[in-house]
Amino acid sequence: MSYRFYCDQPLQGASALLEGSEAHHLSRVLRLDVGEEVVLFDGQGSEFAARVRHISKARVDLDILHKNDTDRELPFTLILATALPKGDRQKWLVEKAVELGVTRLVPLRTRRGVAQPDAGALERLRRAVIEASKQCCRNRLMAVDDPVDLVTLGGATLADAVRVLAQPATGAPPAANVLRRRTGDQTPCVIAVGPEGGFTDEEVAAALSAGWQAVELGPRILRVETAALMLAALAAS
Ligand code: SAH
Repeated sequence: MSYRFYCDQPLQGASALLEGSEAHHLSRVLRLDVGEEVVLFDGQGSEFAARVRHISKARVDLDILHKNDTDRELPFTLILATALPKGDRQKWLVEKAVELGVTRLVPLRTRRGVAQPDAGALERLRRAVIEASKQCCRNRLMAVDDPVDLVTLGGATLADAVRVLAQPATGAPPAANVLRRRTGDQTPCVIAVGPEGGFTDEEVAAALSAGWQAVELGPRILRVETAALMLAALAAS
């Protein structure tokens, strides 16, 4: 399998340019040579076979050979709205969400949330999306939104989506039952996970009256990232 590089400029025409960390990765880390074939992806869903034409200190020039017709996206929009865990677990969650095909990750602003990402943290998470996409051969970048609260997120544009909220020990139906879908169903799906301290009763009540549906993930209390990935895996499978 060829090495993959992310190109943040539109890939049109016969040549492409890598700069910054992608150029560094190609020439310094992997030490590829002129003439080697690689894959470039544009983050918008397309990938291209390309050949290294010239390597200089800060840039790599490539010839585009052809476009590969491959679609590795889920057949529907999957939005993961989650309170972020702390520290390294954030990056781990982002990496796994990319692998599972999540379309958009929305950091949830919650009453008991501890880790509200600032601009720098969001930037690091977006960089982690690129790294994970290189590794798992995904050509469309998972979006990482600015933080919002649940009710704002569920508003107008997502009113027709399947919207589930994971809530432990409530007697809510199992997530697997609610998220099961017929082949070809393209209804968008939004899955929401609370912080380590849980959603408050007020947050749950507001979400339910805004059309969210509570679901359970079994009798044990899962960490934020476990709950998020279990929901994403159930929705994606
Ligand atoms: N002490 C909190 C647990 C928080 S766990 C409480 O009792 O609510 C963090 C988040 O993961 C929860 O807000 C919920 O969205 C999700 N979660 C964890 N375990 C779950 C389970 N068994 N069923 C449904 N959701 C779960």
